[in-house]
Amino acid sequence: MTSAVVVGSGPNGLAAAVVLARAGVAVTVLEAEDEIGGGTRSAELNVPGVLHDICSATHPTGVASPFFRSLDLERHGLEWLWPQVDAVHPLDGGRAGVLFRDLDRTVDGLGIDGEAWRRLFAPLVRRSDALIEEIFGPVLHVPRHPLLLASFGLRALQPASWIARRWQTEEARGLFAGLAAHAMHPLGRPTTGGLGLMFAVTSHAYGWPVAKGGSIAIANALASDVIEHGGRIETGHRVTELPQADIVIFDTSPRTVLQVAGDRLPGRVRRPLRRWRSGPGVVKVDFAVEGGVPWANEWAAQAGTVHLGGTLEEIDAAEREVHAGRMPARPFVLACQQYLADPGRSAGNVHPVWTYAHVPNGYTGDATEAITRQVERFAPGFRDRIVAQTTTRPAQLEAHNANYVGGDIGGGANDPWQLVMRPRMSPNPYSLGAKGLYICSASTPPGGGVHGMGGFHAATAALADLAR
Ligand SMILES: Cc1cc2nc3c(=O)[nH]c(=O)nc-3n(C[C@H](O)[C@H](O)[C@H](O)COP(=O)(O)OP(=O)(O)OC[C@H]3O[C@@H](n4cnc5c(N)ncnc54)[C@H](O)[C@@H]3O)c2cc1C
Repeated sequence: MTSAVVVGSGPNGLAAAVVLARAGVAVTVLEAEDEIGGGTRSAELNVPGVLHDICSATHPTGVASPFFRSLDLERHGLEWLWPQVDAVHPLDGGRAGVLFRDLDRTVDGLGIDGEAWRRLFAPLVRRSDALIEEIFGPVLHVPRHPLLLASFGLRALQPASWIARRWQTEEARGLFAGLAAHAMHPLGRPTTGGLGLMFAVTSHAYGWPVAKGGSIAIANALASDVIEHGGRIETGHRVTELPQADIVIFDTSPRTVLQVAGDRLPGRVRRPLRRWRSGPGVVKVDFAVEGGVPWANEWAAQAGTVHLGGTLEEIDAAEREVHAGRMPARPFVLACQQYLADPGRSAGNVHPVWTYAHVPNGYTGDATEAITRQVERFAPGFRDRIVAQTTTRPAQLEAHNANYVGGDIGGGANDPWQLVMRPRMSPNPYSLGAKGLYICSASTPPGGGVHGMGGFHAATAALADLAR
């Protein structure tokens, strides 16, 4: 019987294990930490009964993932819950750009910019399943929908600031800037538009849900599928030497791959892995808030995600500072209110509010006050409602998950080259160029996010190589 080891139990590692176990391979997942899940863990951090997501919060890529959708994870306890509003981008004075799942509602809310929003997104949303299939895998592939991919790709390569030129209002421009800022890159750089487009399309096509009971429910559902098909999972097992197995798949950073298996890799693979660069880090603050956040904009009080950074120009300036290694006074902050869709995460009237700020990689300062000020700016009185707060800095993120090098939560800098050639230029970027060795983490296509597609593609490639 073919044997396989998956190193790491993040969503990509577990997805790889699902593919292998279902194919009849004897697969073992080895996880360094005491709990499975990697970026999909959840815990009570500061107030009993208030459940926080330690890493990922909102799951546009999870609900859109062709692999997750093929698995019937609901049978293993996963339940997606959608907030009333996917995302809100507040501006000073109580104004906001509002991203509803419903495209027409979004268009109506954007006033004079609404029709330009529709013209850009409607054709992509109409063919979202085909589009997602094209872009949730290696860039170098033979497209099944070449015209669709070309029409998306030509825009996705553009800087977000160019795409935003079609809108006049700060609301529409800010809304798009907040989506594109997930790239953690200055908005005037090529390819930042791509993430903005992808997040808007996933909203209008699938919505931005949370997982009932916390993001850990995603890992638990995948793990349950692995075990149901005969796989094993061991926690508390940090891999430092290459495991003996026919197939070894690394759900880890390229750095860990080099440490564990570097001497087995050909130079053409070792060199790009050595050159791999991390992106900016994050400082995360999990608040427990009495009565929720008193947002000045009424839609923000119903939104799963709130992007806090002000105008497109302000966000771009903050991202440029971070990129230059300096901490901005007003960083770009993401806030999530998962409890709105999943009330079971609150204790009475005390609610978990998840936030993080973009900071320079390896930042050692404390961004708690900067985050609090950004929330307070759009929600006066927020500070008085804080019951408890837990700050996690880049070094702590990395200690909790070795993949988050310097606090980089995306598996590597999203600069134009690394965004498309992850972790190296190859039609099979999952192969490590040595018999039986693969990488499947967020450092492979399609990159960061909870979707399991790296794991799916890596395990599929491993099975195809085996069959040859
Ligand atoms: C604060 C934060 C917020 C985020 N928000 C979102 C969000 O809202 N939505 C979203 O879609 N994504 C979000 N993400 C990103 C998302 O969590 C990751 O992109 C995703 O988890 C990557 O999955 P993965 O399987 O590649 O790796 P990971 O989930 O990082 O898992 C890797 C696993 O490998 C283990 N490991 C590493 N080295 C070894 C070793 N040597 N031996 C054994 N095990 C090892 C780690 O302990 C970890 O469990 C967020 C991440 C963070 C940190």
